Amino acid sequence: MSDIQYRISTKHPQSHLFEVELFIKKADLSGQKLRLPNWIPGSYMIRDFAKNITQISAHSKQHDVSLQQLDKSTWEITAANAKQVGEVSVSYSVYAWDLSVRTAHLDQTHGFFNGTSVFLEVLGQQDQACDVIISNSANAWCKDWAVATSLAKKQVDDSGFGCYQATDYSDLIDHPVEMGTFTKLSFSACGVPHDIVLTGVYDCDEQRVIDDLTTICEHHIRFFGEPAPVSYYVFLIMIVGDGYGGLEHRSSTSLLISRKDLPQKGQAEVSESYRNFLGLCSHEYFHTWNVKRLTPAVFLQADLAAETYTPLLWAFEGITSYYDDLALLRSGLIEQKSYLELLAQTMTRVLKGQGRLKQSISDSSFNAWTKFYKQDENAQNAIVSYYAKGTLVALCLDLTLRQHSQYTLDDVMKKLWQDYLNGQRGFADDTIQNTIEKLMGKPCTELFEQLLQSTEELPLASLLKTVDVDLLTFAPASQSDKGGQVIEKPAQADFGAFLRQKGDYLHIVRVQEQGAAQMAGLSAGDDIIAVNQLKLSLSQFEQMMKTKQAAETIVIHAFRRDEFMSFNVSLSPAEANIVVLQRAAETADNWPHV
Ligand code: ZN
Repeated sequence: MSDIQYRISTKHPQSHLFEVELFIKKADLSGQKLRLPNWIPGSYMIRDFAKNITQISAHSKQHDVSLQQLDKSTWEITAANAKQVGEVSVSYSVYAWDLSVRTAHLDQTHGFFNGTSVFLEVLGQQDQACDVIISNSANAWCKDWAVATSLAKKQVDDSGFGCYQATDYSDLIDHPVEMGTFTKLSFSACGVPHDIVLTGVYDCDEQRVIDDLTTICEHHIRFFGEPAPVSYYVFLIMIVGDGYGGLEHRSSTSLLISRKDLPQKGQAEVSESYRNFLGLCSHEYFHTWNVKRLTPAVFLQADLAAETYTPLLWAFEGITSYYDDLALLRSGLIEQKSYLELLAQTMTRVLKGQGRLKQSISDSSFNAWTKFYKQDENAQNAIVSYYAKGTLVALCLDLTLRQHSQYTLDDVMKKLWQDYLNGQRGFADDTIQNTIEKLMGKPCTELFEQLLQSTEELPLASLLKTVDVDLLTFAPASQSDKGGQVIEKPAQADFGAFLRQKGDYLHIVRVQEQGAAQMAGLSAGDDIIAVNQLKLSLSQFEQMMKTKQAAETIVIHAFRRDEFMSFNVSLSPAEANIVVLQRAAETADNWPHV
């Protein structure tokens, strides 16, 4: 038995409480600190998981111990007149009722947890191996439950309950656990066993999911080169009516998806929502290399009590986002037209936000904790996504390499992986630039400054021209146009606000900085009740924007809180911010295929 052992059980799942017991054989009784992380790697926001701990107490057979809380997430055990080291145990409950990939969730239908939500870290002993005993409840609800996790098995029964082992605390918290009556689909990719664990109510073409995920996983493994860096991998998938999210781990991923994302039996084509699902799986699986192993140096010993800052998130999320959809194309799951549509949608997302003119992606990465992860109604005006613009920066780097050298971004990623295998751990801020400079044989300082540090528009149109792709822009036909498709009847005028139908009102979700609505004094949160004296639905309003001309004035009556106000809005010309990519010539053996 390891000197540190956790036991987790679900006595009363309907109360959403995980019961945890932590045994420490050699606790420092002069002051043994225990701490729960405040954030989970991969999701850059302080979440204060310890707020869900209740009824914590410490016990010892040999010593008279007491437990004191030191701050929001740290406790300390001390013993009066005790020897320096002794055996103690700590019991606590964790309230788990947040259905997200980042936390923990428990009811009579299933249990899910990340170690960061349930396992206190034994400070000073975080490098020690530990055991984790996952025990099933005697409760009738749980009698058919099984366990799915990538934690290393030590001694478990057929359903997966029993003892697991982690090499240290960072390993312990990097293998989420699902328990319940899930469906398990298994496949092998390049000789490595993989499972897909599906929780929730669904009906889908399971064989197609197996086949397509096999294709994606084998593509990524071969991209970086066999052997795969894992000996087992599991996709833990929670299916709900409406949800989207994913979190990467070293040998697994947790996904939250919508039921409609799964392929229906008899459905032959790749629907837009199934394409999103495949893209999400591809994204998280690519992270197995890019961020879980190739990672910023500051993440190697990340302090989980406080923010860990890096300007490099664009490289780990942006480059991963570039390759997630590219892998679908290269492995034959989607057509080139479909790929170019996805890329054009990413360009549209960036172009629609004024924040791209204010924030660089280095800045966006660095401030992810308080800006990207805490977006408010002003986000589009103030920040740029290191995912979306990061994808486009990866594209710019790829096309620049192709234009000026015999290499591509694929070679950069493979070189970085080779360096990792040769023992180089942790990226410095300039590691990617240095690697590209070596391949290009010349300095790229100016290029990197432009792409990463500045808010200059990216040279997408000129770079895409070098691979025979035309970048066209259109004004949107409606506020929900995502890009990628030619707009037949674009709007002439722009109101400068994003609206949502709220009963009889048109609720202003956000306004564009210096846009027509803002210039007239309208604000996010206002509820429009009449436009030119008429009640309009959202589609009627959008139709109106197609007939109005720039500089025409419309009269808006609205409520701000409970105060009635009127506004004369002088419409702006509609901006051409919808991107469409068209292949000028068929060059199937070149980018993006190879
Ligand atoms: Zn990601």
